[in-house]
Amino acid sequence: MTIQKPIFLTSAIPYVNAEPHLGHALELVQSDALARYQRASGHDLHFTSGTDDNGLKNVRAADALGTTPGELVARYGAGFRRLAQALNVAHDDFIHTASDARHAPAVRALWQRCADNGDVYQKSYRGLYCVGCEHFLRESEIIDGKCPVHPEPLEVLDEQNWFFRLSRYQAQILAEIDGDQLRILPGERKHEVLQFIAGGLEDFSISRSRARARGWGIPVPGDDTQVVYVWFDALANYLSVLGYPNGDSFRHFWQNAAERWHLIGKDILRFHALYWPGILLSAGLPLPTALYVHGHITSQGKKIGKSLGNAIDPFRLLARYGVDALRYYLLSHLHSTKDGDFREDLLRTAYTAELAGKLGNLLQRVCALVDRHAVRIVTTNLDPALSLLAEQVAASVARAISDFALHDALRAIFELVAAANRYVDSRAPWQLAKSPENAPALEHCLSSLVYTLGVTARLLAPFLPSTAAEIQARLEPHPHLGPPLFPALPPA
Ligand SMILES: [Zn+2]
Repeated sequence: MTIQKPIFLTSAIPYVNAEPHLGHALELVQSDALARYQRASGHDLHFTSGTDDNGLKNVRAADALGTTPGELVARYGAGFRRLAQALNVAHDDFIHTASDARHAPAVRALWQRCADNGDVYQKSYRGLYCVGCEHFLRESEIIDGKCPVHPEPLEVLDEQNWFFRLSRYQAQILAEIDGDQLRILPGERKHEVLQFIAGGLEDFSISRSRARARGWGIPVPGDDTQVVYVWFDALANYLSVLGYPNGDSFRHFWQNAAERWHLIGKDILRFHALYWPGILLSAGLPLPTALYVHGHITSQGKKIGKSLGNAIDPFRLLARYGVDALRYYLLSHLHSTKDGDFREDLLRTAYTAELAGKLGNLLQRVCALVDRHAVRIVTTNLDPALSLLAEQVAASVARAISDFALHDALRAIFELVAAANRYVDSRAPWQLAKSPENAPALEHCLSSLVYTLGVTARLLAPFLPSTAAEIQARLEPHPHLGPPLFPALPPA
């Protein structure tokens, strides 16, 4: 019997200076698969995402389009919400940080808690700033005068800003990560963070001049000349979406939750593994219990992204292949934590050979045989090898989920599908159907297959929810034929 425990799960909130690309789709479906798995396991899970509206990047993008930042983030923000819906992502809440009335009070309250604790102070600062990262870079991070991730030139900034005393929390953050109270998955990302901490944590600026931000952003409490720095603002969404500093949701899903999980891309690991724990420690709040860190989708070996001009439109892929085929490709053919190259030809092959050829075909074969020979389906005396494999696969899926290796989970499920297809071939139920004395063997064979399909559907549900529901509907109350799960694609 599973004990119900409150779990809070978020994906990162992307900044919205353009339409969403395939990388956003990857993060949405990964987090949705985790959420659905935990819910199906009986946990009391709250799953949120949103958009990061208050950054300087959005101000500049609005300028370039001759519009206001507010209009820009409303327009593109709607696109991100539409993408989540189109991908069948089952959020409990979704926050737009500029327009949601819960956000600014939470940011101010969090700031005030840190200030009351003596961790906010004023200092002039001169440094090289990357607008792409919204971050000052250290000397050692600058390669050929540029940020290693973004193509735009760095800007020299000389400002009087408010700083957060991160250095004070170095030992505590180190202990939390090293001792896995804050787990970072995969292990190589944890190692990377520990190495960074070993280099020393410096205090960081948490405000920007209001003039440079052109008034866009949340004013610093008690200092109208500054707005809250976008990372402090954005990270606070994980609390504001729960109604912090008050609210039952905040108490239930943050303060008293058994788990607090953030699923993020590797490029924003440092903000989540260092800045965010520092802020929370200062505010006297519990830290996240895990960071799930995915890789990037590349296109012909290059990172995709709006600033790089090679974004892949997820809506086009959804229209052509359907939601579950895209989910399947992203979750199964891309490694959950390493970079992966997107290839539409492989998406097509996955659709045709695996989804239609193996899964869809198995369902059709079994339902057709049950239908044609009016076979009674029983739940006892099932094939022991298939039942054992089904149990082993369920255990592999559980392990893969806790290791954040979603691709391994799907591979295990498709091993079960392959075994069932081999079982059909080797038992040849159409031969058994030819003579009445084989009726018990036929019943045994097809019942074992129906059972295996049922397990497959249950295991697939977090990854391919509509397909799983359709398989279940096709098997109950009695297996019956229907249209193909994955109809033939039009020519490429
Ligand atoms: Zn950068």
